[in-house]
Amino acid sequence: MKIAVIGSGIGGLATACRLASKGHEVTVFEKNASPGGKIGEINMKGYRFDTGPSLFTLPELVEELYSAASEPVPSTFAYKKLDVLCKYFYNSGENLIAWADQQKFTDECVQKLGEDPSNITNYFKNASLIYKITADIFLFNSLHKVKNLLKFSVLKSLFQVHKIRFYKTMHAANRRNFKSPLLVQLFDRYATYNGSNPYKAPATLNVIAHLENNLGAYFPEQGMYTIVQHIYELALKKGVRFNFNALVTSINIKNKKAVGLSVGDTSFTFDKIVSNSDINYVMNNLMDHPQKKRFRQLEPSSSALVFYWGVNKEFPELDVHNILFSGDYKEEFTNLFQNKTIVSDPTVYIFVSSKMLKSDAPKNCENWFVMVNAPANSTENWDELIRTTKKNIIAKINKSLKTNIEDYIDHEKIASPISIAQNTLNRGGALYGNSSNSMFAAFLRHPNFLKSVKNLYFVGGSVHPGGGIPLCLASAKIVSNEIPAQ
Ligand code: FAD
Repeated sequence: MKIAVIGSGIGGLATACRLASKGHEVTVFEKNASPGGKIGEINMKGYRFDTGPSLFTLPELVEELYSAASEPVPSTFAYKKLDVLCKYFYNSGENLIAWADQQKFTDECVQKLGEDPSNITNYFKNASLIYKITADIFLFNSLHKVKNLLKFSVLKSLFQVHKIRFYKTMHAANRRNFKSPLLVQLFDRYATYNGSNPYKAPATLNVIAHLENNLGAYFPEQGMYTIVQHIYELALKKGVRFNFNALVTSINIKNKKAVGLSVGDTSFTFDKIVSNSDINYVMNNLMDHPQKKRFRQLEPSSSALVFYWGVNKEFPELDVHNILFSGDYKEEFTNLFQNKTIVSDPTVYIFVSSKMLKSDAPKNCENWFVMVNAPANSTENWDELIRTTKKNIIAKINKSLKTNIEDYIDHEKIASPISIAQNTLNRGGALYGNSSNSMFAAFLRHPNFLKSVKNLYFVGGSVHPGGGIPLCLASAKIVSNEIPAQ
């Protein structure tokens, strides 16, 4: 079959690889000049930055693409397991190292925060149980096909669904589990891994902590962007054709079947279309869907404000991943999702890939990716918000690290919800599609297909099962399983 993929985000690339490996003739249309979507890289005067994701979990999902393509995993696709998951700095002056080794992490929590060790063991056990119960139903199958729900493994999971605590918020579950409010804040943070609010999102999302703490966090030896480069090269090897600088302007539908697409005035016919474009963009711009208003009403996930700083000094107190926590986490999320702004004391994430990959910064320098959660763009005055937030971030870093960081910033670039939206056409620059701020969120995500239009499929962070690299790869697998081999 002749199949078109709209968009070369990680979901689109992975689907193209899988479908080409099944013998189909696959063509990708990408509006940008290069592949990757939100996964990008910039080079700036001797510094290299991964502009999007910094945390890599479930690397086996990338390796699975090679086995689906009957190709060996190339030796260049190498990644290291991190010993330190993250360094945490609290406003109250405490610092905590989240060791990958759970015994070391538990000792750290007991010594520094007086936590009961069994609370930590129970938390990780529960996160692992949630994964076991949900993986088959929510992550690796379409939720929207009766035949999937009737599989024995899924039925078994459905009987245990009460154990995943979907009726409780993540914060309520964490507050009940830990004595130390600092650990509650630490584990509440996992809601932000899919752009949600821990005070609203279901405790089921504690599954995210399982991926990082029980299964491990990784860093590709040559940087995050090499994930995209490898999948792109695999796609080329399997015969996928790429059209860059090609903005798809419509999906053409005849008699309730997708029959092709248009790029401006030029139309192409295809047997099937897979869209990796944000579902809101598709419904509102590429086709005339009767329910398009409904999609606009769903709450978007959070976006981000990122400063990429070339820093001409080394900071041994930092690791690859670092968090400087805000003093009032609840206020931070109320502002993010209700008032749609960034508080004056936001949680600051600093990712320094040059700690792992020395060539990412000149000698004695570091590449800082400094990010705060930001509301998805609606009508904010971003120039003003960026200016004041930068001032607040600098003050926070100076206080936590006892430095004067402004003196060491050599070069700067900025990404905001506006630039992220322009780059990827995601609604408001939301990083993870819609938020999971309700217990029904998993069911409200758009399915990977439409009942009303045949031969049209959806993949990527805005549809089932959700955003983030692993889930986008899972959605590619779900979609390609729906399309039989040639
Ligand atoms: P997208 O990345 O959304 O790409 C879609 C592609 O389709 C784009 O290239 C766009 O140009 C193209 N396109 C859209 N419409 C059209 C059209 N009409 N015609 C042609 N082309 C079109 N995830 C993690 O797992 N770990 C992290 O640490 C992490 N951190 C993040 C930090 C930041 C700053 C950002 C921005 C994201 C982060 N994410 C993280 C989220 C992750 O990057 C995304 O969930 C994932 O990359 C989304 O992939 P996707 O397949 O949905 O495609």
